[in-house]
Amino acid sequence: MVYCRQCQQKVEDCEHFVPPIEATRVKVFDPKVETLAYNEKLRVLEIGFKSGQVWQLSPVAPDIYAEIQNSTISGFLKFIAHRFKASPVRKDEASMPAAECSRCGSPMTRQYRTGSNFQSSFRLLWACARCKRTEWRLYGKGR
Ligand SMILES: [Zn+2]
Ligand SMILES: [Zn+2]
Repeated sequence: MVYCRQCQQKVEDCEHFVPPIEATRVKVFDPKVETLAYNEKLRVLEIGFKSGQVWQLSPVAPDIYAEIQNSTISGFLKFIAHRFKASPVRKDEASMPAAECSRCGSPMTRQYRTGSNFQSSFRLLWACARCKRTEWRLYGKGR
């Protein structure tokens, strides 16, 4: 459970949480952390904990992300993570922001997804009404 500041109570998932980033989720070897994902454009680091909680830290510079290795995750969480803005992440993939069409750039509508576990890997099919075409986007993939 995570405390939602807007709802002023502990909730499992909440519309006030931020949507997941579009990035590959990399499995890591750490007692507490399951996956890391990083979006360089947004400078957001997303940490999936084994407890099921997912948090985003921002703004995280690319060189800081590059320094986080399996061996340094616990140290990073203990000593460095508190410097960043931390936001709980929605677990419902319906909250994914609309992907932009790679051809015309307009926001697409979501069709459906494959993959069962949100934390590891799933694909969403998006449709562009303007181009009348669809494209798959991959959200997360183990190494
Ligand atoms: Zn809330
Ligand atoms: Zn398009």
